[in-house]
Amino acid sequence: MPSPTLDVEAAVVEEKNGEFRLRTVSVQAPRPDEVLVRVVATGVCQTDAHSRSQDYPVPLPVILGHEGAGIVESVGSAVRDVVPGDHVALTFPSCGRCRACRAGAPANCQHGFELSFGASRLDGSNAYGGGGVHGHFFGQSSFARFALASERNTVRVADDMPLELVGPLGCGLQTGAGAVMNSLRVGAGQSVAVLGTGAVGLAAVMAANIVGATTIVAVDVNETRLALASELGATHTVDGRTENVADQLRKIRPDGFDYILEITARPQMLAMAVELLAPMGVAALIGGAPAGTKAPIDMNSLLNGGRMVRGIAQGDSQPQIFIPKLVELYRTGRFPVDRLVRTYEFADINQAFADASRGSVIKPVLVMGD
Ligand SMILES: [Zn+2]
Ligand SMILES: [Zn+2]
Repeated sequence: MPSPTLDVEAAVVEEKNGEFRLRTVSVQAPRPDEVLVRVVATGVCQTDAHSRSQDYPVPLPVILGHEGAGIVESVGSAVRDVVPGDHVALTFPSCGRCRACRAGAPANCQHGFELSFGASRLDGSNAYGGGGVHGHFFGQSSFARFALASERNTVRVADDMPLELVGPLGCGLQTGAGAVMNSLRVGAGQSVAVLGTGAVGLAAVMAANIVGATTIVAVDVNETRLALASELGATHTVDGRTENVADQLRKIRPDGFDYILEITARPQMLAMAVELLAPMGVAALIGGAPAGTKAPIDMNSLLNGGRMVRGIAQGDSQPQIFIPKLVELYRTGRFPVDRLVRTYEFADINQAFADASRGSVIKPVLVMGD
């Protein structure tokens, strides 16, 4: 018997770099391990833009969106963590069965890429219908009034936390904050440089401030963002348009940095980061570059001084633990997510993307309304 379906308004990308078009699609009822969520708000992330432009080859037509927040509508028979009516954040998907998942590192799930960009379930099935549309982007496809997620990437949050601030916690903000707090475990008195101060970089700045880093340098080419970085805890800023970034960073920290977070996804920035590390320092690669991108790193700069480069996905977050922690930090005023967010109506999704690519908004959040 075919499972019952629900008609849902969704923003669909039909072709490479195409506009988002609001269309009605159908979604099947949740399987035993799945959760249907009425989306209240959803963040817009750079990865959505990379997928629309096919830097990441997502099958088209597709419903993107991967920072959903909303209210549980219905759950599959095996779901235990959430019940209808719960407020939830949707986050990155993971399989739960591979070695990384079993080792407690779902952000490094062996099937993570497939689950995020394959636009189907792992078994190849697609719960979405209507003009051959694909869903399941990041296991949620949240640019729609309802999102079909799984229990694994659904995180219950407190009812009094504004849902338009919850969405971005599921990807961009946990990525930046998690890199500092989980992956690198930056400590009091240490030095951090953040290359690129979009939402991920600003979350890293806030987290570095929370953990007590005493040198926090924000680097960008946008003076509004740099000014905000200062307000959020950066001790120094470097404007890449008017200053030589390497010279300035060397001046601030002649002996090198303990940690440099590379979020611009530019190969020469990663190579530069390695040169500016203190002995045993870590250059964290966080920015997502197009497939096949290579960086010209001086091998001897790594060898001498035991410097490290490491990739970090989703801030090594255990979402069910880390997202509620970020909510608590927001509530106590130490992680002011609201400073990064600007809301848009769902129908204005194309405007939200245009503003994000121009750099005039840090974290657009679409609010679905009625
Ligand atoms: Zn896995
Ligand atoms: Zn994202």
